[in-house]
Amino acid sequence: MSKYGQRLARLQSEIQSQGIDAIFISPGPDLRYFTGYDAVPLERLTALVVQAQGDPMVISPYLEKSAALASPIGEMGLEILTWQETESPYRKISQSLGKLSKYAVDGRMWAEKLIHFQSEFTKSQSVSGTDVIANLRMVKDLEEIRSLQIAGLAIDQVHAQVPNFLKAGRTEREVGSDIANAILAAGHKTVDFVIVGSGPNSASPHHEVSDRIIQNGDVVVVDLGGTMPDGYCSDSTRTYAIGSANEDYLARFEILHKAQQLATQAVRPGVSCESIDDVARKYMTEHGIGDLFIHRIGHGIGLETHEHPYMVSGNSKLIQEGFAFSIEPGFYEDGKSGARIEDIVVCGTDGAIVLNNQPRELFVV
Ligand code: ZN
Ligand code: ZN
Repeated sequence: MSKYGQRLARLQSEIQSQGIDAIFISPGPDLRYFTGYDAVPLERLTALVVQAQGDPMVISPYLEKSAALASPIGEMGLEILTWQETESPYRKISQSLGKLSKYAVDGRMWAEKLIHFQSEFTKSQSVSGTDVIANLRMVKDLEEIRSLQIAGLAIDQVHAQVPNFLKAGRTEREVGSDIANAILAAGHKTVDFVIVGSGPNSASPHHEVSDRIIQNGDVVVVDLGGTMPDGYCSDSTRTYAIGSANEDYLARFEILHKAQQLATQAVRPGVSCESIDDVARKYMTEHGIGDLFIHRIGHGIGLETHEHPYMVSGNSKLIQEGFAFSIEPGFYEDGKSGARIEDIVVCGTDGAIVLNNQPRELFVV
């Protein structure tokens, strides 16, 4: 059975065990994960239909059929139910499936499409398929781990060039534009985000770029990510200093660095997602900067930059071999300065496999 066939079989047994009669998955990373079909999300309905019993199928606008067949769907021989411009795809699905007592949809389905499903299946309960799908996508297989490793190497190459771009007198935007080119040159298909937060902007975790001119004595948080041609994402942060940083900041940065190390060392199968956050937070709190760590420590990564599992207090899910996620503690003092160190790790048999390996120390340019 192909890799997609195996994933579809696992999805089917997952919905069976949840008492769900069918799941509808529209274009996006979930569809790509289960079928390899990277369909364009359009107003016209395309969806993978997996029922608790029977073979999966795809509903597609007639004009998209050849695109669907050109994807791995063609090789898998999945049935494609097509609909013409004047037909209702929702009616076609209900005629083909009959009555459903409970169905699920993927979390990225447009609200408009869910509403159409709801008005077609008026007697059925609709539920979110997010957890069912996340349970499968969270555990990366060897091929996915290889893809994430290659993505990690690519973004490491970009960080290695950042010191050449970061100069006092240039704007964040100018530096960001050089970095974006380097992200593509390193093999990514798209640039997903470029954060160059200099001086006080380093205190805003999701600052992107601005026209602020970088100055001597600034610290600069540089958080970069892109998507590789096979769909897997990179995401890594390093913090730089222009010329120098003050003693207080350096002391805090040492605490952050140690916290990031401790959290990475805590990764192993069977510990909870929240415990990874807790290890770093506790250390930072004991050393007086816990209140400046204002976000969760990490997020899962794969076909999306942010996906399950979320490494956050309250998530008692136990880490399994194959989980891939970021470890990115930071400290942020509003209006002043901030710092973050971020690596992607995969949980291996007895600990974290770290996919980003540029030096983590404050890099003085
Ligand atoms: Zn990041
Ligand atoms: Zn991240």
